[in-house]
Amino acid sequence: MKNLLRKILGIIYPERCVFCDKILSAKEKYLCDECIHKFKFIKDRTCIRCGRVLHSRYETLCHECASGNFVFDEAFAPFKYTGEVKNSILNLKYKGRAQNAGFYAKCIWKYGKERITNWNPDIIIAVPIHYSRLATRGYNQAELIARKLSEVSGIPLEKNVIARTKKTQAQKKLGKFERHENMKSAFSFVYGDTLPERILIIDDIFTTGATVDAISGILKDNGAKKVYVICAALS
Ligand SMILES: [Zn+2]
Ligand SMILES: [Zn+2]
Repeated sequence: MKNLLRKILGIIYPERCVFCDKILSAKEKYLCDECIHKFKFIKDRTCIRCGRVLHSRYETLCHECASGNFVFDEAFAPFKYTGEVKNSILNLKYKGRAQNAGFYAKCIWKYGKERITNWNPDIIIAVPIHYSRLATRGYNQAELIARKLSEVSGIPLEKNVIARTKKTQAQKKLGKFERHENMKSAFSFVYGDTLPERILIIDDIFTTGATVDAISGILKDNGAKKVYVICAALS
């Protein structure tokens, strides 16, 4: 019965290549035979703290982390935000390609299983989006990735921990500390229970790290001891 249902769904909603959108054959999964050759994890040396690519082979920390700026403990992303990866994340975000979330969750697990296992997070949470954005988009792309990662890793997904209460305003004129505080004020802590000690935050793109860092600050203010971050791609 389940197989029949899957077959019917496959006819109505055929699976498409995450990178090029071509309809996949039964033996292809997520990527078509051509795009599988375009698949490339980050192989450069990266900052052990925030996951950004390092420019000198003598460093282990990027400049920002060397001056100790982030509140979260460690972060990484399996991909750079360019080419097909960028395109497919934009499709996930704006064109309803929800199945791309499964692809990114699988990739995160394949790329970082050992590290995630060592971190041993108690729960996974997703960076929330503002409810007005949720209303127009219908879903939160970070939460789709987080849910799939929860399925492959067995780490429970916790949905109501942090809420986005404000849309973030431009904050170019603010200094670093003010920026962090301003960003923190866009979120609120809504968890009704004692927070577990180790938390893994999932987002789609890591750019400055300001958003995940603000959430990390709130989690630590509320009792979290360790906060880790994984994004699908590094901008
Ligand atoms: Zn393809
Ligand atoms: Zn760094």
